[in-house]
Amino acid sequence: MIKINVLQLERQELDISGTEGHAFLEIEDTELVQFKDNVSYQLHASLVNRGVLVAGSVKTAIHCVCGRCVKEFKQTVENASVCRYYEDVTEPELDITEDIREEMLISIPINYLCDENCQGLCPQCGVDLNKKKCKCHEKKTGSDAWTALDSLKL
Ligand SMILES: [Zn+2]
Ligand SMILES: [Zn+2]
Repeated sequence: MIKINVLQLERQELDISGTEGHAFLEIEDTELVQFKDNVSYQLHASLVNRGVLVAGSVKTAIHCVCGRCVKEFKQTVENASVCRYYEDVTEPELDITEDIREEMLISIPINYLCDENCQGLCPQCGVDLNKKKCKCHEKKTGSDAWTALDSLKL
């Protein structure tokens, strides 16, 4: 649970930081992505026009499989622009757990790449093109490959 003591906030601005276990995210692992790491957050809360302003960052690391070369890798995911405003807060304590979870979830990518320039696997022989070049790749560039496909259709 991530809570802000609003009464305390009336006297001074607050820094709220901590970690939550991966269960905090409430998402299931898949074959392509697993959540094993803690979620850590660093937030700053202040009173603005009688409302509570919360800003800061939240991050975790995901274990995923590259969509091009199927290598497993770990990737840090961070949302450094968390910003929430709560109008007319009347409770002595403000629970921001759900919102911080949401701020984390929206930062998790839909596609995973070990590297933006990952060359992937050769669609014909399956060689990892990041490690070595195969012969099919050298000879058949773009148009040749399509010509080959066309002749297959006939
Ligand atoms: Zn890759
Ligand atoms: Zn190949």
